[in-house]
Amino acid sequence: MMNIPFNKPYMTGKELFYIAKANFNNMLAGDGPFTKRCHEWLEEKTGTKRALLTHSCTAALEMAAILADIQPGDEVILPSFTFVSTANAFVLRGGVPVFVDIRPDTLNMDETKIRAAITSRTRAIVPVHYMGVGCEMDVIMDIALSHKLLVIEDAAQGIMSTYDGLALGTVGHMGAYSFHETKNIICGEGGALLINDDSLAERAEIIREKGTNRTQFFCGQVDKYTWVDIGSSYLPGELIAAFLWAQMEEAESITARRLGVWKQYHEALEPLEKVGKLRRPSIPLNCQHNGHMYYILLNSLEIRTRVINELKKLGINTVFHYVPLHSSPGGQKFARTSGLMKNTEALSDRLLRLPLWLGVEDKIEQITTSLSVLL
Ligand SMILES: *Cc1c(COP(=O)(O)O)cnc(C)c1O
Repeated sequence: MMNIPFNKPYMTGKELFYIAKANFNNMLAGDGPFTKRCHEWLEEKTGTKRALLTHSCTAALEMAAILADIQPGDEVILPSFTFVSTANAFVLRGGVPVFVDIRPDTLNMDETKIRAAITSRTRAIVPVHYMGVGCEMDVIMDIALSHKLLVIEDAAQGIMSTYDGLALGTVGHMGAYSFHETKNIICGEGGALLINDDSLAERAEIIREKGTNRTQFFCGQVDKYTWVDIGSSYLPGELIAAFLWAQMEEAESITARRLGVWKQYHEALEPLEKVGKLRRPSIPLNCQHNGHMYYILLNSLEIRTRVINELKKLGINTVFHYVPLHSSPGGQKFARTSGLMKNTEALSDRLLRLPLWLGVEDKIEQITTSLSVLL
């Protein structure tokens, strides 16, 4: 029996060549020629003022929390339906995540629940663009502006996606991308911080370079390289950037192919939606997504458990996603909720993610046919 994995990292074929080149150049530490290329590519593609590679999206979010100057007791509004790092980055600074519910259609943070969550301690809003589909950024930015809050976009899944034509991660003050092997553009573990507010760029470079002004020193802007602020080592070495560059070169075609797979699922599953067996994802008209994920919403947790197990017997590997953070031990300890988590609880239990990787195209009929037999 052929096993269909849930994920299979895609390589363009040039990754090792560029890594060899970095070796040959004797440039192995961070911010060498490959890192510069990646920065320039990100700045050109997204329109952000400054892009900085990091070890992960988690690291980029940690940098953002430092840049937002989160102090103990400060509150940050985010969805409970997200990855732990969205919350942890702020908890590490003593911040308190305040969870709001998600919308039933996109599973993104429900922007109509944000105002009620704001207190005198609120400092930032952290929208998470689930499946690379944009949150309602117009409304979120209006709220942020009127309450003088920062907006930090967790765009971990959002590279090459747009909202109203703007790249995800560039609408708020800062945005964070992930290049983890489960994402669209990858380097194993990696990420980037996008800085859209010029006034934050200089400090960002310092925080990323262990709290030193090393970057300014190398640009000839200062004559001493010294400790000036808090910081850590958030920059990846050149080997990672060399690998990533091979992927960035093919970002357009990778995205197009993923969108092709996504569409295949979407069309094949329409009949099952029509007879009420499942719900397919819905994409707002002003959002262009990137084919990051295909999920379906089944009618109950029991059905989902049965479907996962039965598909597994057929060699088809599917997975569920986030356990809502507000119900996790960490969430209970470090965070609080604002309002009911009705959609978060109901939908996370019923969500099933289907295999989506380059090369799965000719297995989709088998996967969707198996689903229709099981449902
Ligand atoms: C993948 C992911 C992260 C974490 O990314 P890393 O690069 O693994 O740190 C954070 N938030 C969301 C929404 C993600 O999907």
